Amino acid sequence: MTKRKYTFEQLLSQFLKDEHYYANPHRSHPFIYSGDNKLWTTDNFGVLIANPTIVRYGKKYPVQDCGFNLPGDNDDIVISVNDLQETLKKVATLKKYEYMTCPECKGSKRVYALYTSSRSFGTWHIETDCPVCNGKGVVKAKPVKFSLVPDERCYINIKDVVFKAPYIQRIVNVCNLAGVKEIHWVHVHKENANIFNINKDIKVAQMPCDPSKSEHPERNTIALF
Ligand SMILES: [Zn+2]
Repeated sequence: MTKRKYTFEQLLSQFLKDEHYYANPHRSHPFIYSGDNKLWTTDNFGVLIANPTIVRYGKKYPVQDCGFNLPGDNDDIVISVNDLQETLKKVATLKKYEYMTCPECKGSKRVYALYTSSRSFGTWHIETDCPVCNGKGVVKAKPVKFSLVPDERCYINIKDVVFKAPYIQRIVNVCNLAGVKEIHWVHVHKENANIFNINKDIKVAQMPCDPSKSEHPERNTIALF
C-alpha cells in the first residue's frame, strides 16, 4: 500500500464517486449540510463529515439539504489505526489510474468533424463522440500516474460487520492526515451506516456490505479481530 499523504482536498475527492459520472449534487462535490452545518462529502456509500472550521483554503461550499440524519451512538469500540493498516496489507491491490480532462474535446465528450463526401461535392460539419477519449471526456494523465488501491472485491470483517477494503483504506487515509492513532466506532450496524469518530472535528459514516449481494465476486474477506 502506498504511504502517500493526501491533502484535505484530495481526501475529500476520495469520498466522491467519479466526479465525471454523477450529476447528483450530493455526490459530485462537498457541501455544507443544512441539517447540522457540517461539511459533508459523500458517494452515497460513505460520508466524510467535518467541522467546516478545519477547512483551509478559504473555500466556500454550497449549503444543501440532503435529508439524511446520522444514527445516534450505540457503542464505543476503540480501533487502532495501525491494526487497520496491517489488515489492509493482506488485501490484494489494484492500480488506479489518474485521469485528466480530455485535451481534444475539453471534457465535452463530443467534437465537430469536417466530413467530405466522395460521391457528391461539399463538406459538412458533423457532431460525433470525441475520438481521443471515446466520448468519456477524460483521458489517463500523461505521463500516466497511478496509485495502488485495495481491490474492491476484498472485504474486511470487523466484529461481523463487513466493509469493502477500499472504504477502510480511505478511513485510514483520513486518520493519517489527521494524525490519529485510534478511532472510536460509535455506531455499529450490520446493514446500516456505521459511524467512526476520527477526532473531535471529523467523523466518517460508512455503509457495510454483504459480499454475497455484491456485483463483483468476492476475492477474500479478512477479519480484523
Ligand atoms: Zn475527448
